[in-house]
Amino acid sequence: MQDFWWRTLGAFAPMALFSLLLWPVVGGRNVLILLIVWVVARLLTHLYNLRKLLRWLKNPELQSIPNGSGVWEDVYASLYQVLRQHSRSETQLTSALERLQKAASALPDGLVVLNDADQIEWCNHAAELQLGLDSAHDSGQPITYLVRQTDFVAYLSAHNFSEPLKMRSARNSEVLLELQLVPFGENQKLLNCRDITHLEKMETMRRDFIADVSHELRTPLTVVVGFLETLRDIQGAVPENLRHYFDLMEQQAGRMRRLVEDLLTLSQLESSHGLGQELVVDVPSMINGLLQEAHGLSSGKHHIAIGKLDAKLALYGNLEELSSAFINLISNAIRYTPEGGDIIIHWSLRNGEAVFAVEDTGLGIDAQHIPRLTERFYRVDRSRSRATGGTGLGLSIVKHILTRHQGKLEIVSELGKGSTFSAVFPAARVKVAMPGASHS
Ligand code: ADP
Repeated sequence: MQDFWWRTLGAFAPMALFSLLLWPVVGGRNVLILLIVWVVARLLTHLYNLRKLLRWLKNPELQSIPNGSGVWEDVYASLYQVLRQHSRSETQLTSALERLQKAASALPDGLVVLNDADQIEWCNHAAELQLGLDSAHDSGQPITYLVRQTDFVAYLSAHNFSEPLKMRSARNSEVLLELQLVPFGENQKLLNCRDITHLEKMETMRRDFIADVSHELRTPLTVVVGFLETLRDIQGAVPENLRHYFDLMEQQAGRMRRLVEDLLTLSQLESSHGLGQELVVDVPSMINGLLQEAHGLSSGKHHIAIGKLDAKLALYGNLEELSSAFINLISNAIRYTPEGGDIIIHWSLRNGEAVFAVEDTGLGIDAQHIPRLTERFYRVDRSRSRATGGTGLGLSIVKHILTRHQGKLEIVSELGKGSTFSAVFPAARVKVAMPGASHS
């Protein structure tokens, strides 16, 4: 700043000295005229430089920065430095952006950036191939003009992107795509698109393989179990000293048969998409039937009763699947409740949702196991599950059935005190039937 004052006002000192020396020679009036001329000349020089600067600012290129003298030299030099710095960071930023775009383009997954009006801002090569987009021409177009499948349009407008959407490619119906929208920034969205055809094929192969193996095992097992039953019924056919081994054979053959049946049920549930025959299920009458079955399973070792029962409450669903899920929960309560324990079955409305609950005073489950109970073959106590004839698939089946009915399984349990397993169905499935209406 000191330099600035020196450069601007410093020129006045020699001029003032010169004027003082001239004063006695040319007189005060002439010196004053000379001074005025000098000041005007300086002013004109500044105005000229200011005009140059303003002209340059209209198109501020580094190469065309003006030259100046005095303080203007400093002004232009500072401007030059600022501009150089700016252009250096711009180059760095552009190359970082280019690298980022190259990396995103090389991704095998399709990526589309959408603005707040769901218009395409940018997409990579994979997205062009998978969704039939053209990054050069489609930029600025609403995505729904180009990806028109109704499922996608509904997914986009539902604004619930917690789950991905699976859909067939419009270009090739053999290709299965998984689309996931991720909101970011200010109402922008990133559309991630994966080709899962291969994964889906593997999954189908796995399901088919389990179904085929289970199917193949069913016939020989039926024969073995049948002969074992026949032998048991023939007096003296099994020598007394071999009775123990025979019982073990029968037990294990029975277990294998239940495993095969459960595996078949699971693969059937997994491979069929719709619910099949959906009717109004009269759950209260179903529960009366299940109660008889429960008494049979318990053989009188437990107190089994019906608690809350809303006699008018029916459900839209599949009778066989619901019955299978409910008996699974009841049979678990019986198997994991020691002799003399209580088991209570409830069927009621809770905030518009229908709840089928089985409450027991059994072993209970430690909190750490609860989130994993519906996984296949997950057991808290393997030996107890086997001893009670469990397959480890019961709750997986229940979860599948409930999911197919848009329902969920709630588990409340305390170790040593007992558990309550509740199947909760959404209000849309609830039907409050007229008293006395029979189930279909
Ligand atoms: P399993 O055939 O072994 O019973 P499930 O899938 O039906 O298989 O149940 C998974 C595990 O959950 C069981 O092994 C058991 O440990 C636990 N479980 C299920 N129901 C109950 C219950 N009512 N009380 C205590 N534990 C239970």
